[in-house]
Amino acid sequence: MRGSSSRMTNDRIVIIGAGPVGLCLSLALAQADLKVCLIEALGDDNFLEQVPRAGTNHPATLEMYERIGLYEKLEPRGIIAPVFHYWDRHEGTLIAAFDHGHLKNDTRFPYVLQCERIKIVEEALKMAKAHPNIDLRLNTEFVSFEQDADGVVAHIVNAAAEQETIAGRYIVSGEGARSIVRKELGIAFEGFTYDDRTLNIEVAYDFKKHGYADRNYISDPNEWSNLFHWKGPPDRWRVHFRTDPKADEKALLQPAALQAQMQRFLPIGKSFDIVGSNLYIVHQRVANKFRIGRAILAGDSAHVNSPIGAMGMNSGVHDAINLADKLIAISRGEADQSVLDRYERQRRHVAIAHTQAQTIRNKRLLAERDPIVRKRNHDELRRTAENPDLARKFLLRTALFESLREADAIA
Ligand SMILES: Cc1cc2nc3c(=O)[nH]c(=O)nc-3n(C[C@H](O)[C@H](O)[C@H](O)COP(=O)(O)OP(=O)(O)OC[C@H]3O[C@@H](n4cnc5c(N)ncnc54)[C@H](O)[C@@H]3O)c2cc1C
Repeated sequence: MRGSSSRMTNDRIVIIGAGPVGLCLSLALAQADLKVCLIEALGDDNFLEQVPRAGTNHPATLEMYERIGLYEKLEPRGIIAPVFHYWDRHEGTLIAAFDHGHLKNDTRFPYVLQCERIKIVEEALKMAKAHPNIDLRLNTEFVSFEQDADGVVAHIVNAAAEQETIAGRYIVSGEGARSIVRKELGIAFEGFTYDDRTLNIEVAYDFKKHGYADRNYISDPNEWSNLFHWKGPPDRWRVHFRTDPKADEKALLQPAALQAQMQRFLPIGKSFDIVGSNLYIVHQRVANKFRIGRAILAGDSAHVNSPIGAMGMNSGVHDAINLADKLIAISRGEADQSVLDRYERQRRHVAIAHTQAQTIRNKRLLAERDPIVRKRNHDELRRTAENPDLARKFLLRTALFESLREADAIA
């Protein structure tokens, strides 16, 4: 970070990254009449070429999409999935089926929407392009920033490959896990990285005829997996597998190896139509501060976690909406800057006590090797799913409502 500058007087909010977090934040601010400059390294030519990532959108997040007018664009592109399953691959049995219908009195959305991150950012980007309060800079690389008591200046390389400075009142990092803002602020990203990588295989095949729901968490002492359904055409299913940390990356991604992996998972007597694959590393980390002065972290720049439970993008969008409300209150003179400390207290608490705790627990549950503990875990899941009160409580937690209620109670 460099020294102070008297140019830091522009009232707009500078947001780095047009991922789900940067876009939702931009839309919420712009709709409340704040000016936004949104900076994104990708351009129209490659924006839709991003690797497959998030896609399960929980009910609490759907309420937020609805508030910014995004839900109606996403629903036709996704799959409404009220039910999810836990399976025991070792025994070949369904352990429990959880139905979001238990939340019908808690939310207008008693289901998750299976709608991939790429569709979300595509739709949100169209809305951002059309909004007069958003100055969208595609093909623009954020490089560094500086701040003083009055504002910030971001240093960028613009679409014409020229260096440029953008002044604003605040800078928000929606840059994802490799956040330059976080690094420039010297904020530690505390936590750990799993040594095993996760293999994602995408196949065009109808798993429903084998009894699977649209979302399935599959426990196995040797090779846990997840199975998720996505709307096409053609309809696709993503299967995630644990891999041996020592296995060679290229060998894992060979077509024959992918086919063999799928046939071990479900022998169907013919080849699977494999339409995509990739490997990813899983981190569990939380920034030890979410804000210093006028620079604020949100989404993956502030916290990253295993995708088991679908909480990364969802909790990032919750950061965005929480932060939007606070920046709007400041701009209207209804709150002073100290309200941003509450943003950090609320969202850091959620990242640690909910997102991290729950995703670590989820992975342990699927990978548990001790047969006695496995049986105890599975019996408990079964009992919970069969009792409507316990199932509702469980779903309020997995659908992220509990994390929001807890955050609301934080002063
Ligand atoms: C396999 C997998 C499955 C997942 N499934 C789920 C799920 O089902 N549900 C869920 O909630 N989460 C899931 N996640 C996590 C989810 O993808 C992330 O939490 C989410 O994408 C984070 O959003 P973000 O906007 O913070 O950052 P990102 O999505 O990483 O977006 C960051 C944006 O910033 C831009 N950018 C970065 N650096 C710069 C720079 N210097 N200059 C300009 N632009 C820059 C990038 O190009 C990008 O567009 C999954 C992750 C993985 C890997």
